[in-house]
Amino acid sequence: MFIVMVATECAPVAKVGGLADVVFGLSRELEVRGNSVEIILPKYDCMRYDHICGLQEAFHDLLVPFYDQWIHCSVFFGFVHGRKCFFIEPHSHNNFFNRGIYYGHQDDPERFAFFCRAALEFMLKSNKQPDIIHCHDWQTGLVPVLLFDIYKYLGMSHPRVCYTLHNLKHQGVTGGHILRAVGLNRPDYYVNQDRLQDNFNPSAINLMKGGIVYSNFVTTVSPGYAWEIQNTDLGYGLNHTLHVHGQKFGGILNGIDYDVWNPEIDCYIPYNYGIDTLDVKYGNKEALRHRLLLRQDFKPLISYIGRLDHQKGVDLIKHAIFYALDNGCQFVLLGSSPDPGINDSFRHLKHHLNNNPDCHLEIGYNEELSHLIYAGADMIVIPSLFEPCGLTQMIAMKYGTVPIVRATGGLKDTVFDADYSDKPYNERNGYVFNDANREGLESAMHRAIGMWHAYPQYFRELMVNGMRYDYSWNHPGQHYMNIYEYIREK
Ligand code: ADP
Repeated sequence: MFIVMVATECAPVAKVGGLADVVFGLSRELEVRGNSVEIILPKYDCMRYDHICGLQEAFHDLLVPFYDQWIHCSVFFGFVHGRKCFFIEPHSHNNFFNRGIYYGHQDDPERFAFFCRAALEFMLKSNKQPDIIHCHDWQTGLVPVLLFDIYKYLGMSHPRVCYTLHNLKHQGVTGGHILRAVGLNRPDYYVNQDRLQDNFNPSAINLMKGGIVYSNFVTTVSPGYAWEIQNTDLGYGLNHTLHVHGQKFGGILNGIDYDVWNPEIDCYIPYNYGIDTLDVKYGNKEALRHRLLLRQDFKPLISYIGRLDHQKGVDLIKHAIFYALDNGCQFVLLGSSPDPGINDSFRHLKHHLNNNPDCHLEIGYNEELSHLIYAGADMIVIPSLFEPCGLTQMIAMKYGTVPIVRATGGLKDTVFDADYSDKPYNERNGYVFNDANREGLESAMHRAIGMWHAYPQYFRELMVNGMRYDYSWNHPGQHYMNIYEYIREK
């Protein structure tokens, strides 16, 4: 099969969060299974160009209609750790992708609507007829709309579209002018309950809803989250739409890329180890402490890695730091937020804890350091208010780092409580709490810390159980292949 991924992130070249890992990891798995995969991305100025091999211009004069003009674009091609990637660079005064950051501008809907139109125009002009176009999140929600209402009639009648929802909190709710920008010139037709009209604001359009309505199949990133967005307020207004299209909707747990995340071969950690050499892990704990100037002492090291977004339970993360320190543990945090207020509050906390030899807060994005933390920590805390899938708990488990998580979305699907799970003991792999409040978090941390001290052998079993789980792309890769085959035949 020929599959084209249209996305706004791909690890490690343009990564903000888990979406990037999914685009890279799934593409790789699909290639391993004998498919041909290409990825179309914006050409951001702030990408990690050091991860692109052989970058060269592949298409000179791509003219993309936008409002009443044509925007001249160049398309570049390069390999990102073996994946074939095309990067679209518009030459216009809007400077859509030369902003120094990926997201967070007022005209984001316009920037990515343009990207959708450009990606299709590029496929048309370069005679690509993929079997499947797989697009992701609200930024690419217009791809199936444009494909089936414009490009199909220009010759692209073959492709089918799979659309993956990574986070319903962000839906691309915007004004109807975007429709005109990309050439969808019948506002009355599109601003309609059955199509793109936002379910809350009747005068707005919802780009994610467009993707759901027009795609041949819609997935989200875990079965737990699939249920939550249909049946709880985590659907943020799209519940009804997901029910209406329930026949073509399902949750598939993300995988992680074991070529990147594997303590046996990880080149970012000083000591490689596996289940049979678990004691070697503690060399990494020592190295982590050494690097972050923490004291070497007999105590558990608890970590947090991730975006410092409201979704992640920012107050609970802060509480976890103090609870850990008050209970004889060390704490290492690696995270950042696009919200300057949240970043500042963590900087303030960092300043406050600066002289504490048991705590280090690293405010920023650091891929290499994240590997050492996964390898060096004993536990990772993930107190998310909601979590579509969550990769950090799965990565942590592969490194024998025991997750302490809130029971939501993909966290609930992957972490099974040491004390209360109904799974057999050899399948329990962490600690889970229900209530997103201090008491809930403390109850789970208390049990985990207590186990580390009082029953080290049992704690070690939890580590090993986590390492044994197969959270690779193998199973999800097969699920996606089944979906692609299914929609091709329809
Ligand atoms: P989300 O997609 O909501 O950000 P996920 O758990 O799905 O959360 O994915 C997070 C990914 O981003 C993981 O690979 C994690 O290691 C990585 N990550 C998040 N924040 C940082 C950071 N500050 N430095 C390095 N890696 C990070």
